[in-house]
Amino acid sequence: MGGSEQKFVNEAFATNWIAPLGPNVDGFENDIKHYLGGNDHVAVLSSGTASIHLALQLLNVSHGDEVLCQSFTFSASANPILYQGAKPIFIDSESDTWNMSPELLEIAIKDRIEKHKKPKAIIAVHLYGMPYKANEINAIAKKYEIPVIEDSAEAFGSSYFNQPCGTLSDFGILSFNGNKIITTSGGGALITKSKNLKDKAVFLSTQSRDNAPHYEHSSVGFNYRMSNVLAGIGRGQMEVLDDRVASRRQNFEFYKKNLSQYSQISFLEEPKNFFSNRWLTCIETSSYELREQIRLTLLEDNIESRPLWKPMHMQPIFKDSMHYTDGTSEKLFDKGLCLPSGSNLNENDLKRIVNIISKTPNL
Ligand SMILES: *Cc1c(COP(=O)(O)O)cnc(C)c1O
Repeated sequence: MGGSEQKFVNEAFATNWIAPLGPNVDGFENDIKHYLGGNDHVAVLSSGTASIHLALQLLNVSHGDEVLCQSFTFSASANPILYQGAKPIFIDSESDTWNMSPELLEIAIKDRIEKHKKPKAIIAVHLYGMPYKANEINAIAKKYEIPVIEDSAEAFGSSYFNQPCGTLSDFGILSFNGNKIITTSGGGALITKSKNLKDKAVFLSTQSRDNAPHYEHSSVGFNYRMSNVLAGIGRGQMEVLDDRVASRRQNFEFYKKNLSQYSQISFLEEPKNFFSNRWLTCIETSSYELREQIRLTLLEDNIESRPLWKPMHMQPIFKDSMHYTDGTSEKLFDKGLCLPSGSNLNENDLKRIVNIISKTPNL
Protein backbone atom coordinates (compact mmCIF):
# COMPACT_ATOMS: atom_id res chain seq x y z
CA MET A 1 0.00 0.00 0.00
CA GLY A 2 1.11 3.55 -0.66
CA GLY A 3 -0.12 5.33 2.47
CA SER A 4 -3.34 7.21 1.78
CA GLU A 5 -5.55 4.19 1.01
CA GLN A 6 -6.60 4.03 4.68
CA LYS A 7 -7.79 7.64 4.58
CA PHE A 8 -10.19 6.94 1.69
CA VAL A 9 -11.39 3.69 3.31
CA ASN A 10 -12.01 5.53 6.59
CA GLU A 11 -14.04 8.12 4.69
CA ALA A 12 -16.23 5.34 3.31
CA PHE A 13 -16.84 4.09 6.86
CA ALA A 14 -17.37 7.56 8.32
CA THR A 15 -19.95 8.47 5.68
CA ASN A 16 -21.54 4.98 5.71
CA TRP A 17 -20.99 4.47 1.97
CA ILE A 18 -20.53 0.70 2.35
CA ALA A 19 -22.09 -0.17 -0.99
CA PRO A 20 -21.21 -0.68 -4.65
CA LEU A 21 -21.61 3.06 -5.24
CA GLY A 22 -20.44 6.26 -3.57
CA PRO A 23 -17.81 9.01 -3.67
CA ASN A 24 -14.82 6.64 -3.88
CA VAL A 25 -16.31 4.81 -6.86
CA ASP A 26 -16.78 8.12 -8.70
CA GLY A 27 -13.41 9.40 -7.50
CA PHE A 28 -11.50 6.29 -8.56
CA GLU A 29 -13.14 6.39 -12.01
CA ASN A 30 -12.14 10.03 -12.36
CA ASP A 31 -8.55 9.34 -11.28
CA ILE A 32 -8.21 6.54 -13.85
CA LYS A 33 -9.83 8.65 -16.55
CA HIS A 34 -7.34 11.47 -15.97
CA TYR A 35 -4.38 9.10 -15.79
CA LEU A 36 -5.43 7.73 -19.19
CA GLY A 37 -5.48 11.19 -20.75
CA GLY A 38 -9.07 12.27 -20.08
CA ASN A 39 -10.76 11.22 -23.33
CA ASP A 40 -12.05 7.77 -22.37
CA HIS A 41 -14.85 6.66 -20.07
CA VAL A 42 -14.20 4.33 -17.15
CA ALA A 43 -16.48 1.98 -15.21
CA VAL A 44 -14.89 0.32 -12.17
CA LEU A 45 -16.04 -3.25 -11.66
CA SER A 46 -15.51 -6.26 -9.40
CA SER A 47 -12.69 -7.76 -11.50
CA GLY A 48 -10.82 -7.70 -14.76
CA THR A 49 -12.60 -10.91 -15.74
CA ALA A 50 -15.99 -9.24 -15.19
CA SER A 51 -14.79 -6.32 -17.35
CA ILE A 52 -13.97 -8.65 -20.25
CA HIS A 53 -17.31 -10.37 -19.78
CA LEU A 54 -19.22 -7.07 -19.99
CA ALA A 55 -17.22 -6.00 -23.06
CA LEU A 56 -18.37 -9.21 -24.78
CA GLN A 57 -21.95 -8.47 -23.63
CA LEU A 58 -21.78 -4.95 -25.05
CA LEU A 59 -20.58 -6.43 -28.36
CA ASN A 60 -23.51 -8.87 -28.35
CA VAL A 61 -21.25 -11.89 -28.46
CA SER A 62 -23.54 -14.84 -27.92
CA HIS A 63 -24.01 -18.58 -28.27
CA GLY A 64 -22.05 -20.09 -31.16
CA ASP A 65 -20.18 -16.88 -32.08
CA GLU A 66 -16.43 -17.06 -32.61
CA VAL A 67 -13.98 -14.79 -30.78
CA LEU A 68 -10.28 -14.54 -31.65
CA CYS A 69 -8.07 -14.47 -28.56
CA GLN A 70 -4.34 -14.32 -27.90
CA SER A 71 -3.24 -17.82 -26.89
CA PHE A 72 -0.27 -16.70 -24.78
CA THR A 73 -2.11 -15.24 -21.79
CA PHE A 74 -3.75 -15.97 -18.45
CA SER A 75 -6.98 -18.01 -18.68
CA ALA A 76 -9.11 -15.04 -17.54
CA SER A 77 -8.64 -13.45 -20.99
CA ALA A 78 -10.52 -16.36 -22.57
CA ASN A 79 -12.94 -17.71 -19.94
CA PRO A 80 -15.59 -14.99 -20.51
CA ILE A 81 -15.88 -16.21 -24.13
CA LEU A 82 -17.12 -19.50 -22.68
CA TYR A 83 -19.47 -17.69 -20.26
CA GLN A 84 -21.24 -16.36 -23.37
CA GLY A 85 -21.47 -19.81 -24.95
CA ALA A 86 -19.16 -18.52 -27.69
CA LYS A 87 -16.10 -20.26 -29.15
CA PRO A 88 -12.56 -19.03 -28.58
CA ILE A 89 -10.11 -19.34 -31.46
CA PHE A 90 -6.54 -18.91 -30.34
CA ILE A 91 -3.88 -16.87 -32.12
CA ASP A 92 -0.16 -17.31 -31.47
CA SER A 93 2.34 -14.59 -30.59
CA GLU A 94 5.16 -12.91 -32.52
CA SER A 95 8.60 -12.79 -30.91
CA ASP A 96 9.14 -8.98 -30.73
CA THR A 97 6.58 -8.41 -27.95
CA TRP A 98 5.39 -11.99 -27.18
CA ASN A 99 1.87 -10.81 -28.02
CA MET A 100 -0.69 -11.50 -30.75
CA SER A 101 0.90 -11.98 -34.15
CA PRO A 102 -0.74 -9.65 -36.72
CA GLU A 103 0.16 -12.10 -39.51
CA LEU A 104 -1.52 -15.07 -37.83
CA LEU A 105 -4.48 -12.87 -36.89
CA GLU A 106 -5.12 -11.99 -40.53
CA ILE A 107 -4.64 -15.58 -41.67
CA ALA A 108 -7.22 -16.67 -39.09
CA ILE A 109 -9.73 -13.96 -40.04
CA LYS A 110 -9.48 -14.76 -43.76
CA ASP A 111 -9.87 -18.45 -43.05
CA ARG A 112 -12.89 -17.98 -40.79
CA ILE A 113 -14.59 -15.63 -43.26
CA GLU A 114 -14.02 -18.17 -46.03
CA LYS A 115 -15.85 -20.69 -43.85
CA HIS A 116 -18.69 -18.17 -43.38
CA LYS A 117 -17.83 -17.64 -39.71
CA LYS A 118 -16.79 -14.04 -39.36
CA PRO A 119 -15.36 -13.57 -35.84
CA LYS A 120 -17.36 -11.25 -33.55
CA ALA A 121 -14.40 -9.81 -31.59
CA ILE A 122 -10.64 -9.89 -31.07
CA ILE A 123 -9.10 -10.09 -27.57
CA ALA A 124 -5.46 -8.95 -27.63
CA VAL A 125 -3.29 -8.83 -24.51
CA HIS A 126 -0.37 -6.62 -23.36
CA LEU A 127 1.26 -9.55 -21.61
CA TYR A 128 3.59 -8.89 -18.68
CA GLY A 129 3.06 -5.18 -19.38
CA MET A 130 4.57 -5.16 -22.88
CA PRO A 131 2.27 -3.46 -25.40
CA TYR A 132 1.15 -5.52 -28.37
CA LYS A 133 1.58 -4.22 -31.93
CA ALA A 134 -1.56 -2.13 -31.75
CA ASN A 135 -1.16 -0.26 -35.05
CA GLU A 136 -0.94 -3.52 -36.99
CA ILE A 137 -3.70 -5.26 -35.02
CA ASN A 138 -6.02 -2.24 -35.28
CA ALA A 139 -5.42 -1.91 -39.03
CA ILE A 140 -6.46 -5.54 -39.56
CA ALA A 141 -9.43 -5.16 -37.22
CA LYS A 142 -10.55 -2.08 -39.15
CA LYS A 143 -10.10 -3.74 -42.54
CA TYR A 144 -12.41 -6.60 -41.56
CA GLU A 145 -14.59 -4.48 -39.23
CA ILE A 146 -14.08 -6.58 -36.11
CA PRO A 147 -13.97 -4.81 -32.72
CA VAL A 148 -10.94 -5.21 -30.44
CA ILE A 149 -10.98 -5.78 -26.67
CA GLU A 150 -7.64 -4.70 -25.22
CA ASP A 151 -6.73 -6.81 -22.20
CA SER A 152 -4.57 -4.35 -20.25
CA ALA A 153 -4.87 -6.27 -16.97
CA GLU A 154 -1.09 -6.51 -16.69
CA ALA A 155 -0.28 -3.22 -18.42
CA PHE A 156 -1.65 -0.33 -16.36
CA GLY A 157 1.08 2.34 -16.66
CA SER A 158 2.39 1.02 -19.99
CA SER A 159 2.09 3.06 -23.17
CA TYR A 160 2.42 2.75 -26.92
CA PHE A 161 3.63 5.72 -28.99
CA ASN A 162 2.85 7.80 -25.87
CA GLN A 163 -0.75 6.59 -25.73
CA PRO A 164 -1.68 4.76 -22.50
CA CYS A 165 -2.45 1.05 -22.73
CA GLY A 166 -6.14 0.53 -22.12
CA THR A 167 -7.10 3.30 -24.56
CA LEU A 168 -5.76 1.83 -27.80
CA SER A 169 -8.82 -0.11 -28.93
CA ASP A 170 -12.63 -0.19 -28.82
CA PHE A 171 -12.72 -1.52 -25.25
CA GLY A 172 -9.92 -1.60 -22.68
CA ILE A 173 -9.86 -3.59 -19.49
CA LEU A 174 -7.77 -3.22 -16.32
CA SER A 175 -7.35 -5.49 -13.30
CA PHE A 176 -6.70 -4.51 -9.69
CA ASN A 177 -6.32 -8.06 -8.43
CA GLY A 178 -3.86 -8.59 -5.57
CA ASN A 179 -1.01 -9.59 -7.89
CA LYS A 180 -1.28 -6.65 -10.30
CA ILE A 181 0.84 -3.48 -10.39
CA ILE A 182 -1.73 -1.63 -8.28
CA THR A 183 -4.46 -3.43 -6.38
CA THR A 184 -7.77 -3.03 -4.59
CA SER A 185 -7.44 -6.66 -3.40
CA GLY A 186 -9.85 -7.52 -6.21
CA GLY A 187 -11.28 -5.26 -8.87
CA GLY A 188 -11.19 -4.18 -12.48
CA ALA A 189 -12.23 -1.49 -14.92
CA LEU A 190 -13.83 -1.30 -18.32
CA ILE A 191 -12.67 1.56 -20.54
CA THR A 192 -14.96 2.70 -23.34
CA LYS A 193 -14.92 5.34 -26.08
CA SER A 194 -18.36 6.77 -25.27
CA LYS A 195 -20.32 7.79 -22.19
CA ASN A 196 -23.25 5.83 -23.55
CA LEU A 197 -21.26 2.57 -23.51
CA LYS A 198 -19.97 3.27 -20.00
CA ASP A 199 -23.53 3.89 -18.81
CA LYS A 200 -24.62 0.63 -20.40
CA ALA A 201 -21.77 -1.20 -18.63
CA VAL A 202 -22.78 0.30 -15.27
CA PHE A 203 -26.41 -0.65 -15.97
CA LEU A 204 -25.48 -4.28 -16.72
CA SER A 205 -23.12 -4.43 -13.73
CA THR A 206 -25.85 -3.34 -11.29
CA GLN A 207 -28.47 -5.98 -12.20
CA SER A 208 -29.96 -4.22 -15.25
CA ARG A 209 -32.67 -2.33 -13.42
CA ASP A 210 -35.01 -0.52 -15.77
CA ASN A 211 -36.28 2.93 -14.86
CA ALA A 212 -39.33 2.21 -12.67
CA PRO A 213 -40.38 2.67 -9.01
CA HIS A 214 -40.44 -1.13 -8.56
CA TYR A 215 -37.75 -3.57 -9.75
CA GLU A 216 -38.27 -4.08 -13.48
CA HIS A 217 -35.87 -6.06 -15.69
CA SER A 218 -35.94 -6.45 -19.45
CA SER A 219 -32.41 -7.82 -19.83
CA VAL A 220 -30.10 -10.15 -17.89
CA GLY A 221 -28.17 -8.35 -15.16
CA PHE A 222 -24.86 -8.92 -13.41
CA ASN A 223 -23.57 -8.02 -9.97
CA TYR A 224 -20.23 -6.69 -11.16
CA ARG A 225 -19.91 -3.16 -9.72
CA MET A 226 -16.95 -2.23 -7.50
CA SER A 227 -17.49 -1.61 -3.79
CA ASN A 228 -17.02 1.94 -2.50
CA VAL A 229 -14.67 0.54 0.18
CA LEU A 230 -12.38 -1.08 -2.37
CA ALA A 231 -12.54 1.97 -4.63
CA GLY A 232 -11.07 3.85 -1.65
CA ILE A 233 -8.04 1.57 -1.77
CA GLY A 234 -7.87 2.25 -5.51
CA ARG A 235 -7.80 6.03 -5.02
CA GLY A 236 -4.84 5.68 -2.67
CA GLN A 237 -3.10 3.31 -5.08
CA MET A 238 -3.43 5.76 -7.98
CA GLU A 239 -1.09 8.11 -6.08
CA VAL A 240 1.71 5.53 -6.27
CA LEU A 241 1.13 3.94 -9.69
CA ASP A 242 4.02 5.79 -11.33
CA ASP A 243 6.32 4.82 -8.42
CA ARG A 244 5.30 1.21 -8.86
CA VAL A 245 6.09 1.36 -12.58
CA ALA A 246 9.49 2.87 -11.77
CA SER A 247 10.25 0.08 -9.25
CA ARG A 248 9.24 -2.66 -11.66
CA ARG A 249 11.35 -1.15 -14.39
CA GLN A 250 14.29 -0.92 -11.99
CA ASN A 251 13.90 -4.64 -11.22
CA PHE A 252 14.12 -5.37 -14.94
CA GLU A 253 17.20 -3.15 -15.42
CA PHE A 254 18.96 -4.73 -12.45
CA TYR A 255 18.38 -8.28 -13.66
CA LYS A 256 19.37 -7.40 -17.20
CA LYS A 257 22.57 -5.68 -16.14
CA ASN A 258 23.61 -8.39 -13.72
CA LEU A 259 22.69 -11.41 -15.81
CA SER A 260 23.92 -10.09 -19.15
CA GLN A 261 27.14 -12.08 -18.95
CA TYR A 262 25.18 -15.30 -19.48
CA SER A 263 24.64 -15.93 -23.17
CA GLN A 264 21.98 -18.57 -22.33
CA ILE A 265 19.69 -15.93 -20.81
CA SER A 266 17.90 -13.26 -22.83
CA PHE A 267 15.45 -10.46 -22.06
CA LEU A 268 12.54 -9.04 -24.02
CA GLU A 269 13.54 -5.56 -25.21
CA GLU A 270 11.09 -2.72 -25.79
CA PRO A 271 10.65 -2.00 -29.49
CA LYS A 272 10.95 1.74 -30.31
CA ASN A 273 8.01 3.73 -28.86
CA PHE A 274 6.83 0.76 -26.75
CA PHE A 275 6.91 1.50 -23.01
CA SER A 276 6.36 -1.47 -20.69
CA ASN A 277 5.50 -1.19 -16.99
CA ARG A 278 7.63 -4.38 -16.66
CA TRP A 279 4.95 -5.86 -14.40
CA LEU A 280 7.02 -9.03 -14.26
CA THR A 281 10.62 -9.45 -15.36
CA CYS A 282 10.77 -12.49 -17.62
CA ILE A 283 13.77 -14.26 -19.08
CA GLU A 284 14.05 -16.64 -21.97
CA THR A 285 16.67 -19.36 -21.47
CA SER A 286 18.42 -21.57 -24.01
CA SER A 287 16.58 -24.77 -23.06
CA TYR A 288 13.81 -26.25 -20.96
CA GLU A 289 16.43 -28.06 -18.87
CA LEU A 290 18.31 -24.87 -18.02
CA ARG A 291 15.02 -23.07 -17.22
CA GLU A 292 14.17 -25.82 -14.76
CA GLN A 293 17.66 -25.75 -13.24
CA ILE A 294 17.38 -22.03 -12.58
CA ARG A 295 13.89 -22.42 -11.13
CA LEU A 296 14.93 -25.29 -8.84
CA THR A 297 18.15 -23.54 -7.75
CA LEU A 298 16.06 -20.56 -6.63
CA LEU A 299 13.53 -22.83 -4.96
CA GLU A 300 16.26 -24.45 -2.86
CA ASP A 301 16.69 -21.02 -1.26
CA ASN A 302 12.94 -20.69 -0.86
CA ILE A 303 12.64 -18.20 -3.73
CA GLU A 304 9.69 -18.71 -6.04
CA SER A 305 9.98 -18.14 -9.76
CA ARG A 306 7.46 -19.35 -12.30
CA PRO A 307 7.35 -20.62 -15.89
CA LEU A 308 5.71 -18.21 -18.35
CA TRP A 309 1.96 -18.58 -18.99
CA LYS A 310 1.01 -21.90 -20.50
CA PRO A 311 -0.66 -21.05 -23.83
CA MET A 312 -4.44 -21.46 -23.93
CA HIS A 313 -4.34 -23.81 -26.94
CA MET A 314 -2.33 -26.25 -24.76
CA GLN A 315 -4.74 -26.10 -21.80
CA PRO A 316 -7.02 -29.09 -21.12
CA ILE A 317 -10.06 -26.81 -20.83
CA PHE A 318 -9.53 -25.51 -24.38
CA LYS A 319 -8.36 -28.76 -25.98
CA ASP A 320 -11.23 -28.72 -28.50
CA SER A 321 -10.73 -25.08 -29.52
CA MET A 322 -9.31 -24.13 -32.89
CA HIS A 323 -5.99 -22.35 -33.02
CA TYR A 324 -3.67 -20.63 -35.48
CA THR A 325 -0.21 -21.18 -34.06
CA ASP A 326 3.40 -21.44 -35.22
CA GLY A 327 5.23 -22.64 -32.10
CA THR A 328 6.21 -19.21 -30.72
CA SER A 329 4.25 -19.34 -27.47
CA GLU A 330 4.99 -23.07 -26.97
CA LYS A 331 8.70 -22.25 -27.13
CA LEU A 332 8.29 -19.38 -24.64
CA PHE A 333 6.38 -21.64 -22.27
CA ASP A 334 9.16 -24.21 -22.57
CA LYS A 335 12.12 -21.92 -21.97
CA GLY A 336 10.78 -18.85 -20.18
CA LEU A 337 10.77 -17.91 -16.52
CA CYS A 338 9.23 -15.06 -14.51
CA LEU A 339 11.70 -13.81 -11.90
CA PRO A 340 10.66 -12.33 -8.53
CA SER A 341 9.30 -8.91 -9.51
CA GLY A 342 7.57 -7.26 -6.56
CA SER A 343 7.60 -3.47 -6.32
CA ASN A 344 9.03 -3.78 -2.79
CA LEU A 345 12.20 -5.71 -3.69
CA ASN A 346 15.24 -3.79 -2.55
CA GLU A 347 18.75 -3.90 -3.96
CA ASN A 348 19.84 -6.54 -1.42
CA ASP A 349 16.94 -8.80 -2.38
CA LEU A 350 17.81 -8.43 -6.06
CA LYS A 351 21.52 -9.06 -5.41
CA ARG A 352 20.65 -12.19 -3.47
CA ILE A 353 18.44 -13.51 -6.28
CA VAL A 354 21.07 -12.83 -8.96
CA ASN A 355 23.72 -14.44 -6.76
CA ILE A 356 21.67 -17.61 -6.40
CA ILE A 357 20.90 -17.74 -10.12
CA SER A 358 24.61 -17.54 -10.83
CA LYS A 359 25.09 -20.79 -8.86
CA THR A 360 22.85 -22.72 -11.28
CA PRO A 361 24.72 -25.78 -12.57
CA ASN A 362 25.59 -25.53 -16.30
CA LEU A 363 25.00 -21.79 -16.43
C1 LIG B 1 -5.25 -10.80 -14.01
C2 LIG B 1 -5.62 -10.93 -15.45
C3 LIG B 1 -6.95 -10.92 -15.87
C4 LIG B 1 -8.12 -10.98 -14.93
O1 LIG B 1 -8.20 -10.00 -13.99
P1 LIG B 1 -8.93 -10.30 -12.58
O2 LIG B 1 -9.09 -8.94 -12.01
O3 LIG B 1 -8.02 -11.17 -11.80
O4 LIG B 1 -10.24 -10.95 -12.88
C5 LIG B 1 -7.23 -10.95 -17.22
N1 LIG B 1 -6.24 -10.99 -18.13
C6 LIG B 1 -4.94 -11.04 -17.78
C7 LIG B 1 -3.91 -11.06 -18.84
C8 LIG B 1 -4.59 -11.03 -16.42
O5 LIG B 1 -3.30 -11.10 -16.08
